[in-house]
Amino acid sequence: MQKSGGYFIMKRNLFCTKCFNDEDFEKTTGTITHEIKNEKFEENVEKFICKNCGEEIIEDEDFDESLLKAFNDYRKSHNLLLPEEIKKIRSTYALSQRALARLLGWGQVTIHRYENGSLQDNAHDQMLSFIKQPDNMLKLLEKNKKNISTKLYKKTKEKAETLLLKKSLTDNIIIKKLQSLNKKYSGNKKFDIEKFYNMVIFFSQNIEKLWKTKLLKLIFYSEFINYKKFNTSIAGTPFIHWPHGPVPKRIYALIDILIEDYKAIEMQDISDHYEGSIIINKKDFNPSIFSKEELETLNLVLNKFKNYSSKELCNQTHKEAAYLQTKHNDFISYDYANEIIL
Ligand SMILES: [Zn+2]
Repeated sequence: MQKSGGYFIMKRNLFCTKCFNDEDFEKTTGTITHEIKNEKFEENVEKFICKNCGEEIIEDEDFDESLLKAFNDYRKSHNLLLPEEIKKIRSTYALSQRALARLLGWGQVTIHRYENGSLQDNAHDQMLSFIKQPDNMLKLLEKNKKNISTKLYKKTKEKAETLLLKKSLTDNIIIKKLQSLNKKYSGNKKFDIEKFYNMVIFFSQNIEKLWKTKLLKLIFYSEFINYKKFNTSIAGTPFIHWPHGPVPKRIYALIDILIEDYKAIEMQDISDHYEGSIIINKKDFNPSIFSKEELETLNLVLNKFKNYSSKELCNQTHKEAAYLQTKHNDFISYDYANEIIL
C-alpha cells in the first residue's frame, strides 16, 4: 500500500486478540474463501499476519471488497446480472432507483442495494433480465399500471416505445441498404433515418400545406447545399433522378416508416389536384440532433424556397447539373452539389 508520503507500509502495530497484546503485523497477500449459497469462492485479499503468533487480520474494507468479488464470481457462474448491468438496464429507461423498484413492485431500496453489490435473488434477476427488452418493459407497464403514477407510466412507456422503434429500425433492411451505399451518393455520411424524419418534420412544421413533391425538393436542397458548404450532407440521404426532379432513393418505403413506425406524419390525398398529397406532421421537430451548421442550412433552404410552389421548385431542380447530367433512375452523385445554383 503506497501512501502519499511515498513509503510502503509493510508493517503495522495492531492489537492481536490471540496474543492479547499490541504486536507487529506484516502485510501479505493471501486468499479468503467465501461461502455463497453453499458454494465456495476463493478470492485474493490483503492480510496482516501477527509476527508473534501468526494470527491473521483482514481489514473490513478489504473483506467487503473480496466478498463483492465472490458475489460477482457467483453471478458469472450462475448467469446472473452484474451490478453494472442492472444499472445499465435502469438508465436505458431513464429511471431512478426508486422509480424502477416501484415499477417492479419491490421494496424502495432493493435496486439501490443490487447496484451496490448485494446479491439479487433469482426471481428478481429473471425479472430484471426480462425488462431489458423494451417490448417486455411495455408488458410490465401494462401489468403494473394501477400500482404506479400516471406520470411514471407515461414517461417509461414513451421511452420503451422509442427503444423498441430504434431496435426495429436498426434491423430494417431498406435502411441498412441505404446505409451501405457509396458515400458519394450519401454525401459522406451514413444515412440517418432519425435525422431524415426530423427534416421532414422541420419543413412540415414551418410550411403550411406542404405538398409531398415540394418536400422532397426541399430535402434535396438541404442535403446538397449542406454538402456544398461543409462537404457533408445532413442525413446522408441518397437521391435518384425522377421526372419531377431528384427524389430520395426508396422514398415510398421511407414515407411508410415515417407514417407507420414513427407515427410522425400523415398524408392527406387531394384527389382533384395533380400533385397528390400534402404532409401533416404529428410530432414535434427535435433540433437537438442537428449541429448549428445543419440548422443554418435547413433555415436557409426554408427561407429561400418556402414560397415556391411545387411546380416552381421542380422547375428549379430541372436547371441543376444534378438533374441535367443524370438519367432516369440514376443515383445522383453529391459531386454535383458544387454546381447548385444558390
Ligand atoms: Zn498474535
